[in-house]
Amino acid sequence: MMKYKDFQEIFEEASSKNKKIYEISEQHEAEITEISVQEVREKVKINLKAMKDAIKQGLKSKEKSMSGMCGDDCAKLLERYKYGESLFSETYQKILTYAFATMEQNLRMGKIVACPTAGSCGIVPAVIIAMAESRDADDEFLVNALITAGTIGQLVSNKLALAGAVAGCQSECGVACAMAAGGLVEMCGGTNEQILNAAALALKNIMGLVCDPVAGLVEVPCVKRNAFLAIQAVTAAELSFAGIKSVIPIDEIVDAMKQVGELMSPKFKESAEGGLATTKTGLEITEKLTNEWSLEN
Ligand code: SF4
Repeated sequence: MMKYKDFQEIFEEASSKNKKIYEISEQHEAEITEISVQEVREKVKINLKAMKDAIKQGLKSKEKSMSGMCGDDCAKLLERYKYGESLFSETYQKILTYAFATMEQNLRMGKIVACPTAGSCGIVPAVIIAMAESRDADDEFLVNALITAGTIGQLVSNKLALAGAVAGCQSECGVACAMAAGGLVEMCGGTNEQILNAAALALKNIMGLVCDPVAGLVEVPCVKRNAFLAIQAVTAAELSFAGIKSVIPIDEIVDAMKQVGELMSPKFKESAEGGLATTKTGLEITEKLTNEWSLEN
């Protein structure tokens, strides 16, 4: 458990010591786990490697999930990019494909890093690793970014459970988006203020996002949502670097998210009883899968 209760507290501590947020956070982690800062960073590198491995494996596979709903979308993007067709840059292409690759590995039961959850595991790696490749950044910069991202997730979780079943998808993919935005700003040399501002901008834009997985599976809309929110994270970082400020401070945004989560109907909290899960098509898919799987058992 973090001793810093909110973003303001860690920001003030970092400012008073003239340090970056990740430096405060890794020092704190070292103290509570009774290991050195270097050992903390080595642990983060293990996660970084797992993220890179998931992307590598995901880029190679077209294997569909058991439901058949997802699994080959990364391959479709790669096919398009093979012929040089794209609306945006190579980095943008990588962000999209890495998000799909990671999420598709998740639905194949491959090894991923929950950041903060398995359903939102594609956003942080896609943004951080794709952007690091485009900047030829050393792994130490990625570690700084991941510690920053992890700190953002931890501080939100002080007030709000990071689970779709508790507060909707705003607390899974939404928080992942904020983590990626803040981590990216760190990796690109931003200030602590710019980091928290990027996270705030990202969080504000996803407030109220419901959790409505079709057939109760972490596939639709989850996989594609990761790709969309990875791009949103980059937008938040870009706005922050431009000096575009969130009018509402990040701690107040988290309070508002908590309130929205509490008022959200249970139908939109992973129960598959509302939203996309209960559309005509969503219900047909659920019925088909239920019949198929009950016949197999
Ligand atoms: S829709 Fe629900 S299950 Fe899917 S990623 Fe979001 S919170 Fe997780």
